[in-house]
Formats: sequence, C-alpha cells, structure tokens
Amino acid sequence: MINLTILGATGSIGQSTLSVVNLHPEKFNVFAISAHTNWQQMLTICEQYQPTFAVMIDEAAAEQLSQAIPSDATTVLAGAKALETIAAHTDTDQVMAAIVGSAGMASSLAAAKAGKRIMLANKESLVLAGDIFMQAIKDNNAELIPVDSEHSAIFQCLQGGLSGLNKIQLTASGGPFLHTPLNALTNITPDQACAHPNWSMGRKISVDSATMMNKGLEVIEAHYLFDLSTDRIEVVMHPQSIIHSSVYFKDGSTLSQLGNPDMRTVIAYAMSYPNRINSGVPALDLTQHSPLEFYPPDFDKFACLRLAFEALKQGGNAMGTLNAANEVAVANFLNHNIKFLDIAKIIEKTLAMSRHFYPTCLDEVVNNDKIARLTANEVIQSYV
Ligand code: NAD
Ligand code: MG
Repeated sequence: MINLTILGATGSIGQSTLSVVNLHPEKFNVFAISAHTNWQQMLTICEQYQPTFAVMIDEAAAEQLSQAIPSDATTVLAGAKALETIAAHTDTDQVMAAIVGSAGMASSLAAAKAGKRIMLANKESLVLAGDIFMQAIKDNNAELIPVDSEHSAIFQCLQGGLSGLNKIQLTASGGPFLHTPLNALTNITPDQACAHPNWSMGRKISVDSATMMNKGLEVIEAHYLFDLSTDRIEVVMHPQSIIHSSVYFKDGSTLSQLGNPDMRTVIAYAMSYPNRINSGVPALDLTQHSPLEFYPPDFDKFACLRLAFEALKQGGNAMGTLNAANEVAVANFLNHNIKFLDIAKIIEKTLAMSRHFYPTCLDEVVNNDKIARLTANEVIQSYV
C-alpha cells in the first residue's frame, strides 16, 4: 500500500487525484490531506477516506472540522507549518503537491528534503526557488515527477534518455482568446477569462491560461525540470490540446505525447511511474479531433509570455518577482479591481521597480515574494 499525502486536496488537481485513488483502493491509501478554508469539503473527504491527518490552513476552519469529524481516525492540524509536517512525515510515501501559488513552496521543499516522491503540480515551487528546490531533490535522493500535462509529456518522451536532444516544445492551447484581437481584450470579465475551451481548472490558473502566464511559468518550470537553457525551450500554440508537448532530436525525430486533455492521465502516471495504471480517462480517438492546428505564439498579445521568458533570462529573483506580481494582479482582476490587460502592465512595472539579486535560501525567496507583492500593490493603486 502506498501512503499518499495530498496537499491541496479540495482543489481541481486534488479532486482528480482522489478520483484516481478510487480506481485503485488496493494500491493507494490517502494518508494525509490539506486545504485552505473549505472545511465542509474536507469533512466529506475525511468521511470517505479516513486519512490519518487533515490540515486546515485557516485556524477557525480547523476548529470546525475537528468538531464535525465523527471518528477519531483523523487528527486535525492547523496552520501552514502543518503542511510541512505531513509532507515530510515518515509514513508518507508520495506527496501530491497541488496547492495553488507560492503558498505551496515550503511544503514541496519539505517533501524534497525528506526524500519523498514529489508529484509536482505546484509549478510555483520551481518558479520561485528552482535552484534551491532542485538541489534539495538531488541532496536527499527525492524523486520528482511532473504533474503538468506539458512536462509530463516531455518526461514521458524522454524516457529513452537525453541523447541527441535538440530542444523541447511546450504546447499551449492559447486559452479562450487565441483568436481574439488584442483590442477586443480590453473589457474581458473574469468569467470570460476563466472559460477555458479544453481544460477545467481552478480560477487562478484559468486566468493564467488566458494571459498565457501559465505557459510562461511552465517555460521556467521546464528549464529546471529538464536542465535546459532558455534557447532550447520553445512554445507552440495548439488549440486542440491533444499533443501535450514534444521533444526534438538531432536525427530529425520528434516525439510527442498525445491524449485527451484530462489531468487524471498525468496524475495516474506520476502515482504509478514507471508503470502505468488505469486513470479513468477514455482512449483518444484521433478521428474526432481533425484538424490539429499549430501556430507560433503572439508575444505582443500575450505579453505575459514574453515577460516570463525575459525573467528566466534575467535569472535569480526575477522569476519570483514575476510570479508574485502576477498573483497579486490576477487576484485583483478576479475581484474586478483591474482590467485584463492591466495584468501584464502591472507585472512589467513591478519587475522594473524591483532590485535584482540571486537568492541563496528560502528566507530570501520568501522575503522577495513579500516585497514584490507590496510593490505590485503599489503599482495597482495607480490603476484603480
Ligand atoms: P485550485 O484552486 O483548484 O486548488 C488549490 C488548492 O490549494 C485547494 O485545495 C486550496 O484549498 C489550496 N490552497 C489555496 N490557497 C492556499 C494557501 N494559501 N495555503 C494552503 N493551501 C491553499 O488549483 P488547481 O487548479 O488544483 O491547481 C493547483 C496547482 O496545480 C497550481 O500550482 C496549478 O498551477 C497546478 N496545475 C493545475 C492544473 C489543473 O488542471 N488544474 C494543471 C497543471 C498544473
Ligand atoms: Mg500545463
């Protein structure tokens, strides 16, 4: 039996992970789970899976969950530090790191330091602290399996080794605005931005897909996961989201991974690697998806993608600053405080106003994140 700790159990990835577990109750035991504030949803999960630990970040929510839980099979813990406790717990075998945003970084790192199999959905861990995180993986013999469709695709295509690899190519659906002209994006509402044509995801990452910041963060994620320089990472627009990414070799061969756009495939692969198990995702029927289309990315319309490439080239804290400014800007967009096209402008200004340096420890990363958020909020004041 594999003991699974799911960080972010109430989210989109968390729920898909539980649905894969449902197909293999003899293989996986839900050992620990976490959520931010939604104790009612956590209660439902606790009733079904009886995890040993349930962590609520919010103290009041932890109290309510603790009172509502019928059995004493589950211990309820409160606060962000408890995420690290369950991630690094001796009985934890696999950690699904599926918290959204920089809030997921410390627990991913704790799992790395404890030498766990980390199934990494929280791309922010790599974006903010890629050097520190990859070093911790190496030093502690941890196992890092990507849980992002593009990176899982590349990881799968590279199972034969890196010999003769020229470049990798991340596919991007282009989100809901692939064919929308720039000037028509001015008055986009949060609901329009979250209406992704292919993938069903949390609201923050849905906005990131609409701005293409999600792809930008993924370029940074790929840089760390596969140890490749920026010029060997490419993006191509592919609205059908059937090819999840490709790798190009010196001999002219290109390998791609294809499948229906459903994260359960990626999650099941991470949980069972190097074997494969049923994920509940139906087989792909290529005849239903003709024609498959591909376009080069428009870096003017999708300024967030350009900014992410620039931050990666700059290195150091620039990627953390980019991420923090994006999180602040997206939250303000979702709250109707700023407009859709302001998101990129706020990030660009925040980057220009920030001091550039190379963080050497998590404290410096966290501090940079805080300062960048303050700066982004200052910038936003000039927009509202
Ligand atoms: P979501 O918003 O649906 O869920 C987020 C989870 O994190 C929830 O369980 C929530 O309770 C928890 N959470 C939120 N704020 C928190 C905080 N401050 N502290 C602790 N926990 C907190 O998000 P999602 O779509 O499941 O995405 C999770 C991660 O996976 C993100 O990093 C995202 O970029 C990545 N990802 C998601 C998808 C997808 O299809 N959903 C695909 C690839 C990568
Ligand atoms: Mg992705």
